[in-house]
Amino acid sequence: MIGPASTGPSRSGYDTVIVGGAVMGSSVAYWLSENPDFDGPVLVVEMDPTYERSSTTLSEASIRHQFSEAVNVRLSMFATEFIADFHENVQVNGESPDLGFRDTGYLFLATGDGMEVLRENHEVQLSCGAEVALLTPGELANRFGYLFVDDLAGASLGLRHEGTLDAYSMMRGFQQRARHNGIEYVTDQVVGLRTGGAGSRITHVELASGTVVACDRVVNCAGPRARWVADLVSLPLPVEPRIRGAWVFDCREELDGPTLPLTIDINGMHVRTEPPHYLAGIPPADDVEVDPDDFAVRRDEWEDLIWPALVHRIPAFERIAVTHSWVGHYAYNTLDRNAVVGPAEAVPNFYFCNGFSGHGLQQSAGVGRALSELLTYGEYRTIDLTAMGHGRIMRGEPFLERAII
Ligand SMILES: Cc1cc2nc3c(=O)[nH]c(=O)nc-3n(C[C@H](O)[C@H](O)[C@H](O)COP(=O)(O)OP(=O)(O)OC[C@H]3O[C@@H](n4cnc5c(N)ncnc54)[C@H](O)[C@@H]3O)c2cc1C
Repeated sequence: MIGPASTGPSRSGYDTVIVGGAVMGSSVAYWLSENPDFDGPVLVVEMDPTYERSSTTLSEASIRHQFSEAVNVRLSMFATEFIADFHENVQVNGESPDLGFRDTGYLFLATGDGMEVLRENHEVQLSCGAEVALLTPGELANRFGYLFVDDLAGASLGLRHEGTLDAYSMMRGFQQRARHNGIEYVTDQVVGLRTGGAGSRITHVELASGTVVACDRVVNCAGPRARWVADLVSLPLPVEPRIRGAWVFDCREELDGPTLPLTIDINGMHVRTEPPHYLAGIPPADDVEVDPDDFAVRRDEWEDLIWPALVHRIPAFERIAVTHSWVGHYAYNTLDRNAVVGPAEAVPNFYFCNGFSGHGLQQSAGVGRALSELLTYGEYRTIDLTAMGHGRIMRGEPFLERAII
């Protein structure tokens, strides 16, 4: 069991302070605490110990190997390995949260132009060892008889290791083991970062409670609020909160065929199983920055966008009923929709771990491991995340990920 958070930091100074203790912050903490070459004290500061508004908890919690950039494919493939050994990786006294992974696949549908992109992505995925297949409309219809395919040029299907898991359990797994290994968590909010000394380095972290702790490094794992943390040391970060709705619905008619994979339609609408129900979502028509405290469900979205698209693609979804819905926030990088990971040139002991849009849960294990290497050895030793560095933000050079849901 995880003990309660302490009332305040036990020390006056730490090697590393991590801002945000959800899946990214806790993964970084976990990997630091597992590395015998790292022995500095680590403090994780989390303002909401319930995590009820964290992207992690509001996630649709799925994993895929189908990306356009090799580094993103590799990060998700590492997640597959990590998930397979999850119990061993995070267990404390023989106990671990149940991830409940279901290997149901992802299915990207495409028209003519889209098919060209899927083919290019497919080559990248194959070169990384992903098990994926391109399907013609005929093959699609044979395999998933409940899909309407007449307006499609084809699809890309994940054959193994893609599916859905429990996001909260993943986060809890990292947390329980990190705490067991001695990482300290406090409930508080980071409101200031003091700089000084040689160069522009952070020397202290100020908390909303009034506590000030000294530190050697700060890691920004503040999710959709990451820009405000970067702003404390005047670092530009084009990451903004963007609303994403999740709609769970019931269908009386059983789909005649294999389990519905997480299917991404040509307009961005996606749907998957959520036994015994289904879950769907779509990027909003006005996809703009929202207030980080705005969690209002956009009711029109279902009626105007999602339901018509569902019925078009799967006629059996004509008679369905919504059982519940929620919204969460993507931490959306407006430059290129890819993550921003690594140190800031202008403030070298400030590390970014931000901008994961809709794929941060599956990247958490790989990114946490990579950042822990950077913090311990000053270099990446497993998956090289240099391309995700903050330098490209400063230079305005996009590192574009095309397969964003
Ligand atoms: C609807 C939806 C569907 C998604 N679907 C998927 C999916 O299928 N697969 C996938 O891989 N990913 C998915 N994602 C994305 C994934 O959930 C996120 O990328 C991931 O959870 C990000 O984790 P995080 O720790 O960076 O951010 P968060 O989970 O948001 O955590 C950030 C934490 O920082 C804390 N914090 C912020 N500021 C401060 C501060 N100043 N001081 C202290 N604490 C602070 C917050 O309270 C919060 O707990 C989805 C997201 C949404 C919203």
